[in-house]
Amino acid sequence: MTNTWSLQTLAYARSPYRQKFAIPRQPGLVKHAVGTIEFLPEFNHEDFVRGLDDFSHLWIHFIFHETVKKGWSPLVRPPRLGGNVRKGVFATRSTFRPNPIGLSVVELIDIEYRPNLRLKVRGLDLLDHTPVIDVKPYLPYADAYPNARGGYADHRPTTGLRTEFSTEALHQIAQEQIEFPHLKAFIEEVLAQDPRPAYQKDAHLAKDYGMHLYHFNIKWRVEDNLNYVFSIEAE
Ligand code: SAM
Repeated sequence: MTNTWSLQTLAYARSPYRQKFAIPRQPGLVKHAVGTIEFLPEFNHEDFVRGLDDFSHLWIHFIFHETVKKGWSPLVRPPRLGGNVRKGVFATRSTFRPNPIGLSVVELIDIEYRPNLRLKVRGLDLLDHTPVIDVKPYLPYADAYPNARGGYADHRPTTGLRTEFSTEALHQIAQEQIEFPHLKAFIEEVLAQDPRPAYQKDAHLAKDYGMHLYHFNIKWRVEDNLNYVFSIEAE
């Protein structure tokens, strides 16, 4: 029997995350991260999703296409452990895996059939344009184990960081209100995850960071327990 299998892209995820930096490390952590799963012409038919609208959540199987060229190793350092402790790749959800396959549960908000088939989903942790290789309904009776042990990641990460916006940033958000009504909450949720690399989290000096959400270039300063968003520019 062969040990090699080929897979094909069925759809692409469209996501507000335009770069890897600042994407939450798991789905469901940032509720305002809303995106779509857009099917390729071969799968652009309502038959493929008949019955799916009865489910509230989906499993999305995808390819870590952005990091696949970097390869993998048997041991990885989970950011959750500060980047200093090594765990076996199969004891982590690292993107650097022998088969670069990711798996995320997202909430299904809507199914749009026209002009093309697409699933509107909430809470995703995928980069924009991520290739999707399968979609399955989430089955609460089989997939949820409320008493399961979570190893070194047994609770939702908390950072204690709060976020404030400059007057200028609030003005920019107000200007985008019609098209992006949840932009402020979305930025707050993303920054509450503290996207900084683990080795910079103990730094005592203020430092500036930048990220792209949608077409916005967002800049903030971290000092003590404060994220101070000082610039939001549409590009
Ligand atoms: N929930 C998935 C899983 O467990 O398989 C993904 C977990 S992985 C730790 C989440 C990270 O994958 C995100 O923070 C982002 O940096 C990265 N990521 C998301 N989409 C990606 C892509 N298409 N290629 C490479 N990395 C990606």
